[in-house]
Amino acid sequence: MADHYETLGVSQDASQDEIKKAYRKLARKLHPDVNPSAEAGEKFKDVTAAYDTLSDPQRRKQYDMGGQDAAGGFGFGDIFDAFFGGGQGGGRGPRSRAQRGQDALVRIDLDLDEVIFGTHRDVQVATAARCEDCAGSGAAPGTSPVTCADCGGSGEVRRQVRSILGPVISTSPCAACQGFGTVIEHACETCHGQGRVRAQATIPVDIPAGVDSGLRLHLPGQGEAGPGGGPNGDLYLEVRVREHEVFVRNGDDLECLLEISMIDAVFGTNTTLPALDGDIELEIPVGAQSGDVLTVRGRGITRLRSTQRGDLEVTLQVRTPTKLDHKQKELLQQFAERSKHEAGPELSREKPGLFSKLRGKFGR
Ligand code: ZN
Repeated sequence: MADHYETLGVSQDASQDEIKKAYRKLARKLHPDVNPSAEAGEKFKDVTAAYDTLSDPQRRKQYDMGGQDAAGGFGFGDIFDAFFGGGQGGGRGPRSRAQRGQDALVRIDLDLDEVIFGTHRDVQVATAARCEDCAGSGAAPGTSPVTCADCGGSGEVRRQVRSILGPVISTSPCAACQGFGTVIEHACETCHGQGRVRAQATIPVDIPAGVDSGLRLHLPGQGEAGPGGGPNGDLYLEVRVREHEVFVRNGDDLECLLEISMIDAVFGTNTTLPALDGDIELEIPVGAQSGDVLTVRGRGITRLRSTQRGDLEVTLQVRTPTKLDHKQKELLQQFAERSKHEAGPELSREKPGLFSKLRGKFGR
């Protein structure tokens, strides 16, 4: 620790008047109200400690003789804390018992067909609700919180501390009422003075079309009730969309795989596709190939916060017959005889397994 004389910038034989002047000058520069930096705060502590010692002739004499620098009538910590409001965060007056309630997060599982047009859910939530018996006050019915006798309702205790800069007021929260300014003498028996109780709530929610896994719906004021009759927090619903065994979502589009017979692929046909939102009449064209995609416009998922819908993309897969009777085999052999000019197997540029994830079944 630096020498007290150096700290104040005075000589060893400085008069009491010079010491006082030097301290005043430094304090005006380093005072936390003027200079809120931590460095200035530390210096201010040192300067005040030096002044405490040197301004007291008895302690100055002891210090000059190399004695222990004993603490004086008041520690500089008291003054220091006083300048910073006793670490109370600068709040004035009693704090409210009413606090905002916690936000709540609930997860909901949806099926893919519910996402197409949106859906309605009555969501069950374990939450905190305002206590009906005391209307959230926490005081037994017929009673009300009384003004705290210790602080007179201000919620804080003030203490005057003498310092060289004059008397300063140190403020701290009242211990008797925890800073509320009032005391609940008779707590509500239902909520034990909390102003809220555990509850099971049913919250009706309209889930818009087009939501996807991970999306959070925000419901303001539907969370937990606050203590002391405070406002509710918010409720967040996190959506998870279950995978469908046939239809796969791709943004706003739906995709599926349709297996067709070799004969249907050759001659073409009309078929009914049972989509999530109703049947679709589908025309399989003559000469359809595995991997061909038929696009059904506007039969995908409704875009979030829109009325527009994506498409349904149907990928065709031709099924090769495996169980042939004698006659069928004979006919196909005849067909093969007449097809000798056709090319044999050849490598394709298409990526293998491109549609394998779409593999599914249609009841037909
Ligand atoms: Zn109550």
